[in-house]
Order: sequence, then C-alpha cells, then structure tokens
Amino acid sequence: MTVNLNFDPIRLPPECQALRAEARAFLAEEIATGTFDPHRPGDGDSHDRAFSRRVGARGWIGMTWPRPYGGHERSHLERYVVTEEFRAANAPDHFHFVADRQSGPILLKYAPEHVKKDILPRICRGELCFAIGMSEPGSGSDLFAAKAKASKVDGGWRINGSKIWTTSAHVADYMLALFRTSPPSKENRRHGLTQFLVDMKSPGIAVNPIYQMTGQRGFNEVVFVDAFVPDDYVMGEIDGAWKQATSELAYERSGPERFLETFYVLVGLIRALGPQPDLRGAEGLGRLVAQLHTLRRMSVSVAGMLQAGKEPVVEGSIVKDLGTLWEQKLPGRVRELAAFLEPEIINRAPLADQLAFATMIAPKLTIQGGTTEILRGIIARGLGLR
Ligand SMILES: Cc1cc2nc3c(=O)[nH]c(=O)nc-3n(C[C@H](O)[C@H](O)[C@H](O)COP(=O)(O)OP(=O)(O)OC[C@H]3O[C@@H](n4cnc5c(N)ncnc54)[C@H](O)[C@@H]3O)c2cc1C
Repeated sequence: MTVNLNFDPIRLPPECQALRAEARAFLAEEIATGTFDPHRPGDGDSHDRAFSRRVGARGWIGMTWPRPYGGHERSHLERYVVTEEFRAANAPDHFHFVADRQSGPILLKYAPEHVKKDILPRICRGELCFAIGMSEPGSGSDLFAAKAKASKVDGGWRINGSKIWTTSAHVADYMLALFRTSPPSKENRRHGLTQFLVDMKSPGIAVNPIYQMTGQRGFNEVVFVDAFVPDDYVMGEIDGAWKQATSELAYERSGPERFLETFYVLVGLIRALGPQPDLRGAEGLGRLVAQLHTLRRMSVSVAGMLQAGKEPVVEGSIVKDLGTLWEQKLPGRVRELAAFLEPEIINRAPLADQLAFATMIAPKLTIQGGTTEILRGIIARGLGLR
C-alpha cells in the first residue's frame, strides 16, 4: 500500500504579524462605520462592491499574483492571514472572493496575454465578481457527465444548456464554466469538456434565482440559449478540461473559509459564557478551540505547500472534509453548551439568532465545493487505498 500524505509543519513567518494587525485595524474601521456587523449572521455572505474596492485598494486581492497583472507578489501564507481575518470577522467579501481564490489563478495559467492584462488588474482592484459554472441539473459530483454544450462557430463558440447552484451568478461579471465540446471517448470518459470564460452580459444568458431556507439568494440556475463566447475566452486545452480541474480544487478546498463560515457562533458562545464559564462550559469550549486550532495548523500547512509550488490535492481534501464536518456540528455543540445559561444573560438573544441561522446553513457545508463522500474517494485514492 502506498501512503502519500504529508502536512509540512509550516509556521506563519514574522511579516504575517504586521499584516494581521493591518487587516484587523482595517476591519475594525469598517465595522465602526457600519459596513457590516461581525456578529450578524448573513453579513459574511453578502456582496458589497464598495467594500471589495476598498479591499482591493489595500492590495489584498490577487495578493500572490505577478505585479504586471495588478498582483502584489506576496506569499500564500500572507494571503492566508488576510482570508482568516476576514472570515473570522464575518466580513462581506463575497463580491471578490471567488475571483481572488480560484478564477484569477486559472486565468493566470490559461488565458491569452491580452485577456490577462484586461481582466486580472480589475479583479485586483475589487471591480469584478466571478461565478463557477460546473454543476448542472443532471451532474454535480460527476462533473464529467456535464451536458451543456459549446459548438464551434465562426470566431468562437455557441453555448446552449444550463448550469445550477451557481453561487453569485446574479451579480457576477464573468463565469468560468465547463461545456461539452466533444462526446466522451471510449478510452476516457472525462474527455470532451472545455473550460470557457463567459461574459455574463452576453445576450442569451438568463439567471434565475434559487432561494435558500435563510431567505438569501445564495445561488442560481443559469440558462444559456445561443450565447456566444469568443475564441480567446477558451481556457486551456479544448476537450482537455479534466487535466486542469485538479489544481483548482486544491485552492478551492483548503482555505480557512472552509471552517470559519459560522465562526460567529463560537464567538457568540464565548460572549454568552462570559469571562468565568462553569466547568462544563470551559471544558466544552476548550475542546472546540483545540479542534479548531488543529484544523488551522493543517490549513496553514496547505497554504505553505501551495507557496512551495506543490499541488496538495489530497491534503486540501482532508482539510475540507474535517473542517466542514467540524463546522457542521458546531451549532449543535454550542446549543448544548449554552443550554443551561440563565435566560436573563445579556448575550443570549444574539446567540439564539446566530444558532438559528447557522443551523439552517449547516447542511450545505459538506456539499458545496465537493461532497464529503467525493472528498473521501479522492483521499482514499491519494492514500493508495482504491
Ligand atoms: C451552497 C452551495 C453552493 C454551490 N455553489 C456552486 C457553484 O457556485 N458552482 C457550481 O458549479 N456548483 C455549486 N454547488 C453545487 C455543488 O458543487 C454540488 O451540489 C455538489 O457537487 C454535489 O452535486 P449534486 O448536488 O448534483 O449531488 P449528487 O452528485 O447527485 O450527489 C448526491 C449524493 O450522492 C453522493 N454521491 C455522488 N456520487 C458519489 C460517489 N461516486 N460515491 C459516493 N457517493 C456519491 C453525494 O456525496 C451526495 O451525498 C453549490 C452547492 C451548494 C450547496
């Protein structure tokens, strides 16, 4: 049996301390001026263009990208610190987050030079929102069963079909999407999909809302009827998108956003327990914080490996699997620990609202970005077990 798993013991370098202090000061200022409330669930999911522009002006979007494309040539560990501070503060970073985390790196690798020069600096300035068009009504986990089609026409491609669960499509400027350009081959069922950059303002694209239990419009159905995509918006090899998908997933799955989406519940518990929690509260809280600390060390390790130019797909999958399961259980654990607090305790009411919201969103945590079962398949393969 081959065991191929490695979490390098990375520590955040000293320059990260100063950056963390800068990010905290910026966020404190934004909270003070009323941009968002760190304790109000849902704020962290919102799209705030003006906020994203201010983040861009600080140099915190495209942090690791080359300067000629508007980037800042900082390390993945520095990016980690900013992401962590923004998530822990419940900051409204959804307008720029996907572009920063995964769409930009794909453009950097596969877009023609003039497309990179046009789009990447605008992402870095916080001006663009991206969506990911992978899932379809008939294919989610089995990405390579996608049917939405791109047919070759003069100067580009004509697109027909639909995507579903597309986060942020209703505000997105662009989508990076997979479309079928050939049937699968006998030897390789993953053959035949191509990745395209789609301008969401193109004619022939309808974005229909899908509302979540919380009432939020988190995601959408996107329908393409004869939408046109020019040739220079093809990303990478025609029919060969499967070769590109794996490195994207290491970026998508390993970050602190994967276990800090409902961090406000933990903060709510600490506030409700007060400075002198009873033994049960202290023990339960200690356990949760110790688990979170371990997840954090693992996630920092993946950031360090990305910095070293590695592709830690298995390690990223493990962080997402453990992180999302921990986060999914968090509202239940917090509810148990807060159950015996006196009703008149001042911080109890906000905690009840936070718990109600976190409980409603918890099921999605182990589905978005790849389900637990799929991740475990990837991990098993990485460990040589299947
Ligand atoms: C909040 C949220 C945001 C999302 N945002 C986006 C987005 O922006 N863009 C996008 O493209 N998609 C997005 N998705 C879709 C997400 O990627 C899919 O829901 C996910 O990949 C699962 O696909 P599915 O829903 O079709 O379920 P299915 O693939 O039908 O899976 C159903 C069940 O079967 C299990 N299963 C499937 N195959 C296997 C297997 N081989 N072995 C074992 N078990 C298996 C799954 O684990 C799951 O439990 C989002 C989803 C959520 C919840």
